[in-house]
Amino acid sequence: MSKETKKKFTNINELGEFGLIQHLTQNFSPLNSSSILGVGDDAAILKYGDATLVMSTDLLVEHIHFDLNYVPLKHLGYKSVVVNLSDIYAMNATPRQITLSLALSSRFTVEALEAFYSGVELACRNYGVDLVGGDTTSSRTGLTISITAIGEANEKNITKRDGAQVEDYICVSGDLGAAYLGLQILEREKKVWEADNSMQPQLEAYQYIVERQLKPEARKDIIQVFAENGVIPNAMIDLSDGLSSDLMHICKASELGAELYEENIPIHPQAHKVAFKEFKISPTTCALSGGEDYELLFTLPKDEFQKIDGKANVKVIGKMLEPKEGIKLYSPKGQAFDLIAQGWNHFKQE
Ligand code: ADP
Ligand code: MG
Repeated sequence: MSKETKKKFTNINELGEFGLIQHLTQNFSPLNSSSILGVGDDAAILKYGDATLVMSTDLLVEHIHFDLNYVPLKHLGYKSVVVNLSDIYAMNATPRQITLSLALSSRFTVEALEAFYSGVELACRNYGVDLVGGDTTSSRTGLTISITAIGEANEKNITKRDGAQVEDYICVSGDLGAAYLGLQILEREKKVWEADNSMQPQLEAYQYIVERQLKPEARKDIIQVFAENGVIPNAMIDLSDGLSSDLMHICKASELGAELYEENIPIHPQAHKVAFKEFKISPTTCALSGGEDYELLFTLPKDEFQKIDGKANVKVIGKMLEPKEGIKLYSPKGQAFDLIAQGWNHFKQE
């Protein structure tokens, strides 16, 4: 083939994860009036008569999302469910059912899968959801898990990413950065063990951050506090990719700018200590770029925030601004930095 006629192929790195999704789905417009919201939020919104449903799906692949050298199968089962439910709560909806599909290689025993399902069962029980189906197939390359979650919502309560308003408070639940640091500890201990099999992992001092990585929880409690106090956030997302990237999704969808105050970003003392002392990195960077915290990031007017203030573990970390202001992070000394999304992006070029 001559050079001129050679077809140009595009590497997926060039588009990045979100660019790729947008590119592949741009020609799809809804054919059914029941498809209220499609690609682009934490979950799709479907409406059948008076019933409004939200639906979200996630894929977890061995060696990409988890390493069975240090992730116990029971925890993996639990986490696989929880990360999906988190997307449903991020719509201010209540998860009701999941389906679970597995591709597995012959190295998995029945006992190993029982352990995985005991974690799935515990998560279903803790969050009140039913496992209603799935699919099972063999694989040559380890374990792949796909979970779809379906939730129920009152249509007027659903929160998307695009509803933020100028002057809204930007709020976050819990604390950030710990799951990332837990992963760094697990990776470090794995290397020590690989170098010398007689070395046992030393995890006692890291219990909180390791648990945040291995056994995250979805913020069902925050959704309940909203309901009890008659509060509906203007915009909401769950923090799976890191504060920076996930705030940017809200800003982009809402066509607004934002400012964050570094000193208000909640960080657990153990995460703070490990970031500074052991990895010599800024705890703020872990919060901004780490991901997997599964906390809720939402915006609402000051008056609405006051209705939940003190009733839930939620902090105000910033404010929504006019789009021309961009997205800025203010250091404790008042210096402003442009925020760049360094969160997790699967196909990003290194
Ligand atoms: P989250 O991090 O909240 O799980 P994702 O970043 O995975 O969300 O996905 C963003 C949006 O793109 C969602 O609406 C999701 O349903 C959609 N999406 C992701 N991958 C695909 C795909 N291959 N085809 C169609 N839609 C997709
Ligand atoms: Mg999400």
